[in-house]
Amino acid sequence: MAYDRNNIFARILRGELPCSKVYEDEHVLAFRDINPQAPVHVILIPKGEYVSVDDFAATATAAEQAAFIRAIGRIAQQEGVAAGGYRVLANHGEAAGQEVPHFHVHLFGGHDLGPMLRRAV
Ligand code: 5GP
Repeated sequence: MAYDRNNIFARILRGELPCSKVYEDEHVLAFRDINPQAPVHVILIPKGEYVSVDDFAATATAAEQAAFIRAIGRIAQQEGVAAGGYRVLANHGEAAGQEVPHFHVHLFGGHDLGPMLRRAV
């Protein structure tokens, strides 16, 4: 999948669309999901142009990758969900229903999150 510079998260990164920011550093931006599916629902994105976790893993710098993982842990602490539990999820492509083609992870928490996946088999 080629990177689309007009995707919504790219526009948020350029400041063309607003967001409710919860964290930012040199490599990462995190903000609240516009349609939250848990009391805490944060989206973390790298500032670089990556479409998926496999793209990010293969082509991002070590500094970008380290910053991203560290940000997940910091936000879990900052949002007060580290002790009670939380879930980190990344969708990619059609089977996972990815809506925005800029690599991102969702961080969910704040209540019982239920089963990990719909059981279809
Ligand atoms: P995906 O299905 O691609 O993993 O998730 C995309 C997420 O982006 C959805 O949870 C959706 O609610 C969120 N989203 C879509 N547009 C916007 C927006 O303009 N602002 C914010 N904060 N979240 C958005």
